[in-house]
Amino acid sequence: MADGKELKEKLFNEKKVGWEGLTEKQRNEIFNYCNGYMGFLNKGKTEREIVKESRELAEKKGFKDISKFKTLKPGDKIYYVNRDKNLYLAVIGSNNIEENGLHIIGAHADSPRLDLKPNPLYEEGGFAYLKTHYYGGIKKYQWTTIPLAIHGVVVKPNGEKIEICVGEDEIDPIFTITDLLPHLAQEQMERKLKEGIKGEDLNLLIGSIPYNDKDVSEKVKLNILNILNQKYGITEVDFLSSEIELVPAFKARTLGFDNSMVAAYGQDDKICVYTSLTAILEVENPANTAVCMIVDKEEIGSMGNTGMESHVFDTFISEILDKMGINKPNLLDKVFVKSKMLSADVDAAFDPIYASASETNNSAYLGRGVGVNKYTGARGKSGASDANAEFVAWVRNLLEKNKINYQISELGKVDLGGGGTIAYILANKGMDVIDCGVPVLSMHAPYEVTSKFDVYQAHKMYKAFYQK
Ligand code: MN
Ligand code: MN
Repeated sequence: MADGKELKEKLFNEKKVGWEGLTEKQRNEIFNYCNGYMGFLNKGKTEREIVKESRELAEKKGFKDISKFKTLKPGDKIYYVNRDKNLYLAVIGSNNIEENGLHIIGAHADSPRLDLKPNPLYEEGGFAYLKTHYYGGIKKYQWTTIPLAIHGVVVKPNGEKIEICVGEDEIDPIFTITDLLPHLAQEQMERKLKEGIKGEDLNLLIGSIPYNDKDVSEKVKLNILNILNQKYGITEVDFLSSEIELVPAFKARTLGFDNSMVAAYGQDDKICVYTSLTAILEVENPANTAVCMIVDKEEIGSMGNTGMESHVFDTFISEILDKMGINKPNLLDKVFVKSKMLSADVDAAFDPIYASASETNNSAYLGRGVGVNKYTGARGKSGASDANAEFVAWVRNLLEKNKINYQISELGKVDLGGGGTIAYILANKGMDVIDCGVPVLSMHAPYEVTSKFDVYQAHKMYKAFYQK
C-alpha cells in the first residue's frame, strides 16, 4: 500500500499560499513590479486618465497609432484610441490569422464612483454643493466622510475641452460628503443598510464663503461660480456638457507590516489593465497576433460606443486585416471563432470576516495566485458564457507549464447574488473566453485590497498567454 501522505500529495488539489518558499529575490521582484502598479494607479483614476497614461507607456515601447500605417506586417505594434476612453493595442503575429485567430486580453478602466448630475450646483444653508449620480454598484454609505477628488472634462459648445483634476496634489483642497452624527442618528440607524444613505443624499460639499455683495441672493454659489470662472473660464451652463467624476482622494498604498498587499481605489479593474498592458508592452514578434483591450462602461453594462458591446473593436480588427492585405468577406467572423480571449477582471476574494458569503471549497483566496472563473453569472449561472472544459484545460496547461499559481473559483455562495464581466460579449462572437484576474477584498469600495503575489501572477499569466 502506498504511503498516505505521498498519495495525498499526488491525488489532492491542495491550494498553496504563494508566498511560502519564495526567495528574497523573488519577493523583491514582486514588490518592485507592484511599485510600478501603485504608481500607475496614482496617475490614473478615471478611464480617460488610464487611456492617456496607457497610450504614453505604449508609445515609449514603440507602439504607434494604426492610422500611421499604410500596411501592417508581423512584429508591428499598433494602437487605436476610441474617444479618449477606450484603447486597443496589438502586436502583429507571424501565424496565419485565419487559422489561428487572435490572442486577446480585455480589462476595463472604469471603476465605481460618483458622477455629477447635469445641473449639479446649488446652495443650501450657507453651503455650496454638487449633486451626484452614482456610477456602478456601490454601497452608498462608504462614500460619505472620506476625502474625494474631482476629475473630469468640461467641453464648451465651440469644442474647447477643459480638464479638471482637484484633490490629488497635497496642496489641493479636497471635498467630502457629510453624514449625520451618531447622537442624532436614531432614525437613520434603524433603516436598512442600503437605505442608510440615500442616492439623493450624496451631495458634495464644495464651499461656504458668500460673495461679498449684500444685494445678491445665493452668494455662496455665486462665489464658487466666480472661482470656477476665473480658474477654468466656465459658467454654470457648461456643466451641461461635462463629464466630472468624484473619486477617493486616497493614494495607492502598501498594506500590512509585511508589505504584502495593495490598498487602493479602482483596482477593479485597473489591476488587470496594468498587468495586461505591461504584458503586451513586453511582447516582441509573437506567433499569434496579440491584442490588449482597455474598455469603458463595464461597471454599467458595457453599452455605449466606448463599451465592449460597441462595434468599434470589430472595426479595429477589420482595419488590421485590411492593412495586412488579407481581408476578404467573412474573414473577421472566422478570425473571431478561432480566437482565444482572457477576460481579465477582478475576482471576489474570500474574506474571513464575511466567511458566510463564500463557499470555502470554491472561493478565491488572497495570495494563492490568479483567480480563474470558468463562469460568472447569478444563481443558476444566469448570463454566464461558461468556458468549455477544453478551453479550461488549454488555460490550465498554459498556467501549469509556466509555473503560475492559480485557483479556479466561483464568485460566492450560489444563491447569494452574482456578477458578470465582458466575457460573454466576446464569447458571443465565437471566441473561447475565460475570466481570470486578481482576487480582491472590499470590491467596489473606495479602498480595495489585493495581494501583491496575485498581481504578479496575473502579469505572468498574461505574458505567457501572449507568448504562446
Ligand atoms: Mn470589474
Ligand atoms: Mn466591478
